[in-house]
Amino acid sequence: MNQTTKIINQAKEEGRKALLEPEAKTICAEYGVTVNKFSLATTEQEAVEQAEKIGYPIVLKIVSPDIIHKSDAGGVKVNLKSAVEVEAAYRTIRENAKRYKVDAKIEGVIVQEMAPQGIEVIVGAVKDPQFGQTVMFGLGGIFVELLKDVNFRVAPLTLVDAREMITQLKAFPLLNGYRGSKPVDVDALAQVLCNVSKLILDNPEISELDLNPVMAYFDGTKTVDARIILE
Ligand code: ADP
Ligand code: MG
Repeated sequence: MNQTTKIINQAKEEGRKALLEPEAKTICAEYGVTVNKFSLATTEQEAVEQAEKIGYPIVLKIVSPDIIHKSDAGGVKVNLKSAVEVEAAYRTIRENAKRYKVDAKIEGVIVQEMAPQGIEVIVGAVKDPQFGQTVMFGLGGIFVELLKDVNFRVAPLTLVDAREMITQLKAFPLLNGYRGSKPVDVDALAQVLCNVSKLILDNPEISELDLNPVMAYFDGTKTVDARIILE
């Protein structure tokens, strides 16, 4: 059995609908989506050991089935540059989580590679009652929330479909070398969309998927946050 099926079955057995970030990232990686290096720590000392292995700068985030939006809970600390900073962030994140939700079940803290800044984009998938499994693409922040500048396509996607979803965005000029910056790697992004399309078709028990954000670079992409919800 592959990792994806194992993770989904385990969540079902435990009666969980939301997969944890490490679980969602393991599934994404199995489908060829490039994610940042990560591991789960359950003590300060483990967090430091893992940070040293991955290399600074480091990002720490809360891992809890009761906290879906980690930043809202004070559960994300980026750009940690030393063992002392990692230890302090580990404690702060756990305290913040408890303050946010007193009875939150905490699985640990995910220790991860800090990805270089790219253009932050969103890749999503939802089950549309009428059209079925659908893949979504947009830029982060106000482009999605305020301007509703997103494109949807029914799965399965071809690479040509995926490229269109990207290049037909109103904000596409921002991805394509706006004001002298290098254009992002549209082919690599299109491949992420196609991989997500395969992922959701192979696993119909997934009702929602969110890669938010995916860092888009001149050369390749890196997914730094992943969320998967089961039916
Ligand atoms: P949330 O659950 O609040 O969506 P995220 O994991 O998306 O939490 O983290 C919040 C923000 O922190 C992201 O939008 C991104 O800008 C930044 N971030 C998170 N993880 C990383 C990482 N590994 N490398 C670089 N930036 C990151
Ligand atoms: Mg996020």
